[in-house]
Amino acid sequence: TRVANQIAAGEVVERPASVVKELLENSLDAGARRVEVEVEGGGVRLIRVRDDGQGIHPDDLGLALSRHATSKISEVDDLAHVASLGFRGEALASIASVSRLTLTSRTEALPQGWRIEVEGSAERPPAPAAHPRGTTVEVRDLFFNTPARRKFLRTEKTEFGHIEELVRRLALARPDVTFNLSHNQRRVLELGAASGSVERDRRVAAACGQAFLEHALPVAVEAAGLHLDGWVAEPAFSRSQADLQYFFVNGRMVRDKLVGHAVRQAYKDVLYGGRHPAFVLFLTLDPERVDVNVHPTKHEVRFRDGRSVHDFLFRALHEALAGARA
Ligand code: ADP
Ligand code: MG
Repeated sequence: TRVANQIAAGEVVERPASVVKELLENSLDAGARRVEVEVEGGGVRLIRVRDDGQGIHPDDLGLALSRHATSKISEVDDLAHVASLGFRGEALASIASVSRLTLTSRTEALPQGWRIEVEGSAERPPAPAAHPRGTTVEVRDLFFNTPARRKFLRTEKTEFGHIEELVRRLALARPDVTFNLSHNQRRVLELGAASGSVERDRRVAAACGQAFLEHALPVAVEAAGLHLDGWVAEPAFSRSQADLQYFFVNGRMVRDKLVGHAVRQAYKDVLYGGRHPAFVLFLTLDPERVDVNVHPTKHEVRFRDGRSVHDFLFRALHEALAGARA
């Protein structure tokens, strides 16, 4: 099974950021209100994700690390859905097969926590360990036993950049949860949970930079069951590094052709000529009107009425940008 796990790991664990993604999704699934991500050496030396979620019962610790042990799969309603989600219920097993993994957890009801250690799938029985309610997953020496994969990793800076981007994205999607991120003992992101709109602004500023918020035009439009809010940046705001383009559909980050087109058209039309729009936008609509499981890893979606969504986005953004020029 070790080889099987390593093969599965190839699907799930491409680089350190993929590990962080799986661990954070588990934390959010466990109802965490606060997650701490500590990274060393671009994530190759260490990734530690600590949450205050519901925790794992000691009887289930071993199960959590075995393939197909997930209970979540039973919540999935049809086969097509299962297929589209790909390898589910084996993220931890896959990660454990290519690293030195420690899982420590405590549930609310138990007086103490328990820890289980795995090294390349050699598992030791759980032992008691001090831990507050919640779970800590520690992943050390990623790809230590798969040198071929390790060779494909980029510089520490690049790998950490992917992690930072991922945390920022998840944090934008879940303003109700606190996310902290550090690299080599240095705090990089400190994103406290936000409730009101002022707090949410502050949080977006912390995630995307104060400069973005200063040059951002607020968007808040509702029509025919479509609700769009967030910010688009004036062209005066130019971001040299990575693109600052975040579009969420019902809380899930997407990178969609139709959406991209509508945004570009709106920019062009207002004669900004800005080839690199920056935006953080949240579209909310009836889940029945959108299929988010087209290709989860590629962040694609399929709108039932693509045309009207496109036109709605175009008009909403056009209005926001034109309004600012007037
Ligand atoms: P999946 O998330 O698809 O179920 P994983 O391999 O990612 O598969 O996780 C296996 C199981 O371990 C989860 O179903 C969950 O029961 C448990 N688990 C993992 N991480 C956490 C966490 N942070 N808090 C609570 N339970 C967790
Ligand atoms: Mg998971």
